[in-house]
Amino acid sequence: MQRPKFIAGNWKMFTTQAVAAELARAVVAGCAQYKTKIALCPPFTAISTVVEAVRGSAVTVGSQNCYFENEGAFTGEIAPQMLLDVGCKHVILGHSERRHVLGESDEMVNRKVKAALAAGLEVIFCIGETQSQRQADQTESVLAVQLTSGLAGLSASDLNQIVIAYEPVWAIGTGVVATPEQAQKAHVFIRGTIAGNFGENAAAKLLIQYGGSVKPENATTLLHLPDVDGALVGGASLKADLFLAIIRAAQ
Ligand code: PEP
Repeated sequence: MQRPKFIAGNWKMFTTQAVAAELARAVVAGCAQYKTKIALCPPFTAISTVVEAVRGSAVTVGSQNCYFENEGAFTGEIAPQMLLDVGCKHVILGHSERRHVLGESDEMVNRKVKAALAAGLEVIFCIGETQSQRQADQTESVLAVQLTSGLAGLSASDLNQIVIAYEPVWAIGTGVVATPEQAQKAHVFIRGTIAGNFGENAAAKLLIQYGGSVKPENATTLLHLPDVDGALVGGASLKADLFLAIIRAAQ
């Protein structure tokens, strides 16, 4: 099945509003000729600014996290509805930095996924093994658990609102990128697991991004692997010329 490519930029905890506006405007100006689906995920404080900057273009905006309740006494948290209200289309959930630095469990990620879908957001659901898990030959079992628990309780039609980002933890922000063989093998395993849990049709349509040190110099090879449908880009998404070069590589 021919699937569109989807390139998303995860700006993490970087950018002031001024920097975010300039970066978003540069991405919009440089990607107008491409059909690729493109999303920018700034920190909460720059979402409105970026929504304004991309208005009228095909570029969409996502958040990097949300909570699983719609409102209430949850100091410091942001509800899925609030993200929609401010103009977000997507939310990244289960990112390795939230799992490993901020202690989010599979169960918590699952609650967030359900709340985000119920609100109408598209979820970029991140999974990936650590270096020690890969060395212990546990990559597939880790991915299976993260997929099965993180997407528990969802139906095949919910999968229309899910994009999976395979992000080996050892490749995030390290400059060490998965080999094409490692990436393709993991993506095939993920698609197969989704087929087992949600059916062949949902699996065939599912977009699976690769994330972890994607740069212009490795993007062409990764983005043309049969089961890699795009990229979730961290560091290189903070420089318009690098991010645009990755978008170009997807063509
Ligand atoms: C990420 O933050 O999701 C990521 C993949 O980061 P980087 O591209 O910097 O490895």
